[in-house]
Amino acid sequence: MQKVLEDYIRMCYDGFLQGWHERNGGNLTYRMRPEEVEDCRSLFSQSRHMELPVDVSALAGEYFISTGSGRFMRNVPLAPQENIGIIRIDDDGRGYEILWGLENGARPTSELPSHLMNHIARIQVTDGRCHVIYHAHPANITALSYTIEPDARVLSRILWQSETECAVVFPEGVGILDWMIPGGTDIAVETSRLIRTYPAVVWAFHGIFGSGETFDETFGLVHTIEKAAEIYLKAKGAGIIRTISDEQLRILAKAFGVHINEDFLS
Ligand SMILES: [Zn+2]
Repeated sequence: MQKVLEDYIRMCYDGFLQGWHERNGGNLTYRMRPEEVEDCRSLFSQSRHMELPVDVSALAGEYFISTGSGRFMRNVPLAPQENIGIIRIDDDGRGYEILWGLENGARPTSELPSHLMNHIARIQVTDGRCHVIYHAHPANITALSYTIEPDARVLSRILWQSETECAVVFPEGVGILDWMIPGGTDIAVETSRLIRTYPAVVWAFHGIFGSGETFDETFGLVHTIEKAAEIYLKAKGAGIIRTISDEQLRILAKAFGVHINEDFLS
């Protein structure tokens, strides 16, 4: 199998093994590099056309791998061709063709508008380096969203203080979107607005969207956030009597050469 598909499938199943993908929860899209498209071209046979509810002309002609709507991450390695697929965005950005996979009438994830708008936002703010958008339902970060107001400063400080590496992994902080109906255009617009500033955005009472250059980086980002949330909830349950200070966060950022979001420090 083509390496890009192997890597994609591995990430789907790794998320399942972490417990982040109950039933059909979560979805993953990957913007393919030109050489990966060529590597996969021999697979392209069918062509089904679908419309999009949003204008993604900024992604015209781009190829994506997407998980299927209603499909289970758990099943991706067993039958990739039924649970994931490769699509090409139309030249006018109003629809796409399914070129491989998503067999038996499957469609890409219902969060495809959110994913594509997030790709556009992250491509713009990373000079084209972002290739991965990942949505998962990790239990601890979701639980944490019940304990705070939907405020990125509050959330980011909690996470930075809960594990020393956090400020190095996501010095911009993590965004948070208050509860909204998933699967629609409104949540796609709001998430893509936040993800311009933050590499990851929590959906309150639901889960998280993470972005990155590679599968490893994106999975690692969500993993780090989820681990920090777990540590925070454990420490909070036991009783927090002290934490990492703002001064220590600044020292850390300086030592690792990252620009920590000063708006979130006192
Ligand atoms: Zn979800």
